[in-house]
Amino acid sequence: MKILITNDDGIDSPGLKVLATEMTSVGWVYIVAPQSPQSAGSHATTLHKPLRAERYPLGLGEKDSFRTSGSPADCVVLGLDVLIKEEIDLVVSGINAGPNLGDDVIYSGTVAGAREGALNNKLSFAFSVNSFFNPDFSYASVFAAFFSKLVADKGLPNSVYFNVNLPNIPKEGIKGYKYAKLSRRRYSNRVMVGKDPFGKDFFWIGGKLVDSLEDRTDSKAVEDGFISITPLLFDQTNYKQLAEIEHIKFDLP
Ligand code: MN
Repeated sequence: MKILITNDDGIDSPGLKVLATEMTSVGWVYIVAPQSPQSAGSHATTLHKPLRAERYPLGLGEKDSFRTSGSPADCVVLGLDVLIKEEIDLVVSGINAGPNLGDDVIYSGTVAGAREGALNNKLSFAFSVNSFFNPDFSYASVFAAFFSKLVADKGLPNSVYFNVNLPNIPKEGIKGYKYAKLSRRRYSNRVMVGKDPFGKDFFWIGGKLVDSLEDRTDSKAVEDGFISITPLLFDQTNYKQLAEIEHIKFDLP
């Protein structure tokens, strides 16, 4: 199995390094990751300026490693199309420091890395740990290697990609896993307003999470100490609405 690893926290982040190390037990590991952090950069794709990539060996047992000036999605495109000469079987993104739960998947660069893999018909995974500040990747990396191999061996359709979040607790504290739907993630006080040193207003988007923790959601699973596993699709068609709207007929104005 040939595995492409990317992330959105940058190639020097510890989450990528432990993931790459563990994935060497699953197959050949190739790393193509951003040279700088790209969190919340979503599926940004660089079209209007050139990208750069340079070999950047991490010494983790990987077959090859590159850092690029692009986004996670750019990295997957470059990896699949030009940088890696082998045919990739699996794209794994992460391990992210911080959760990518519910609506976060829209903003997440980590999830976008996996989505780009899925768009290229590669079985793909995004892994995140539920702490920005003291993430413990030790069990998350073991689980990531185990679960991606498990799914790859089952041969599920490649258009499905998986978003996986782990609670930030040691293995002994983890209660199990749950297949879960995405939650609604809302943030209060989303924009902080301040004054810069020149007296002009600045705005800082962030906010405090107000999560409703509905049953069967990924957020609830992780909050309760379970690993959440959510299969995602990139087809954003609202099929229910499509069926409902079809009876509305109109003449063009
Ligand atoms: Mn990140």
